[in-house]
Amino acid sequence: MTTRTTTSLPETAQATQTSGQATRQLRNFIGGEPVDGVRTFAKLNPIDGTLAAEVHEAGRHEVDRAVASARAALEGPWGRMTVGERATILRRIADAIERRFDDLVEAEVGDTGKPEALARDLDVARAAANFRAFADVVSAAGLDSYLTEFPDGRRALNYAVRKPLGVVAVIVPWNLPLLLLTWKLAPALASGNAVVVKPSEETPSSATLLAEILVEAGLPAGVVNVVHGFGADSAGEFLTTHPGIDGVTFTGESSTGSAIMRAVAPRVRPVSFELGGKNAAVVFADADLDAAIAGLARSTYLNTGQVCLCTERIYVERSVFADVAAGLAEQAARLRLGRPENPATTTGPLISRQHREKVLSYFELARQEGATVLAGGGIPNLGDGLDTGFWIEPTLLTGLDNSHRTVREEIFGPVATLIPFDTEEEAIALANDTEYGLAAVTWTRDLTRGHRVAQRMRVGMSWVNTWYLRDLRSPFGGVGLSGIGREGGLHSLGFYTEPTNVCVQL
Ligand code: NAD
Repeated sequence: MTTRTTTSLPETAQATQTSGQATRQLRNFIGGEPVDGVRTFAKLNPIDGTLAAEVHEAGRHEVDRAVASARAALEGPWGRMTVGERATILRRIADAIERRFDDLVEAEVGDTGKPEALARDLDVARAAANFRAFADVVSAAGLDSYLTEFPDGRRALNYAVRKPLGVVAVIVPWNLPLLLLTWKLAPALASGNAVVVKPSEETPSSATLLAEILVEAGLPAGVVNVVHGFGADSAGEFLTTHPGIDGVTFTGESSTGSAIMRAVAPRVRPVSFELGGKNAAVVFADADLDAAIAGLARSTYLNTGQVCLCTERIYVERSVFADVAAGLAEQAARLRLGRPENPATTTGPLISRQHREKVLSYFELARQEGATVLAGGGIPNLGDGLDTGFWIEPTLLTGLDNSHRTVREEIFGPVATLIPFDTEEEAIALANDTEYGLAAVTWTRDLTRGHRVAQRMRVGMSWVNTWYLRDLRSPFGGVGLSGIGREGGLHSLGFYTEPTNVCVQL
């Protein structure tokens, strides 16, 4: 969990501040207007640790205003729009995102340090796709209706009407900031809600820019409000405990989900939670090993391992264990850490110094638990002014088993542990031996086995011979500590609306 950073800046940040350049200010966005916070906090650039922006933290008063502004928007023209009118606005938003594509890439890269190519191909492209997908879903969605016949001859027409939840709190993390925000915002708006967004304190920029883009695209002021800040005793907690909130959709750590559940419990509000994971991949000896190794490199190291779906446990059939270990270690060593604008860069830094300390503590724990380090394991020396940034080496471990904390707890960095297995039953049991249950990958050429194993994985998303290939209409979510509920396609409409049944005696 990210905790409050201090406004006292590291030396590098102070140097930036006194170099004559005005520091970028990121304000809350309430009722269509930028709004100052109660204080500001520093957002550092993960590339080199310099000051990237000063962010205005919302206090209780600003959160109150944001909730009131969302409520007022529901009473205005937004609350009276037809589904078709809302779908048209969603499509205009997608077009506007594409017009401001470069600005959004810059915002995302500035906050996260991720390679520009990744921000283009994944984050910003998916933001536009999210709005188009939910414009289509809501336009095509049907509703239940039943003609009911009773033994005494009476007949009734039952039909469901979908109503928005109302004011929805959208709380999102820092790893894929714009992608995960729009994944929730698009269905919330398609369903006719008004929202208050709380982006991560680590990634405030793209949400602030998107708020402006939404108004440019014709969304009435107040339908989307953005408040900045932290969790406990800050904007996050003020929002989830606010009596004016009708539901909370949250992506982040499982422990934060638990805190949010407690916060909404007194008022019994619905929650949709996409939480942490400790995802497994299983490689059978009959797999196309080149494809499996390339796929594992992607599922372990994409976005510096900071994707909730990333693989952290890799179970490999014993006869190919050495080949997979050598191949994946080579892939890890070949990754290029560097500046985001360099097209050769494959891998950015971790999001913050604090998160790097957490990941490094697991590298240390792994050594104490007896791991062998096949690749990485520390902080790289990059030179080029980058050594004040939050870089870490892509890492591969072996020599541990499911009893070790390194193999049980979510690390959320570029690291996985390789473990051998002998039988299909054993592989399934090892993969399912976790309190999490988000995603799994099975690598095999035997598709009958692929279907069989994929279906027995106790997860929300089970891939075969691929990873992170998504159809936005399909259900997305986790079991166990990995979440509550499903979003995606009609599943999203299920959360963001209240169906009301109308019964008319004929
Ligand atoms: P986090 O839980 O620390 O923070 C997420 C958001 O919640 C932030 O905006 C934060 O300010 C806010 N928050 C924190 N405490 C709060 C509180 N008490 N009340 C209200 N809001 C609060 O998570 P993170 O470190 O930003 O993100 C990484 C985590 O997110 C990992 O566990 C990862 O697996 C998970 N994640 C899950 C999915 C998924 O789809 N299942 C996707 C991406 C990330």
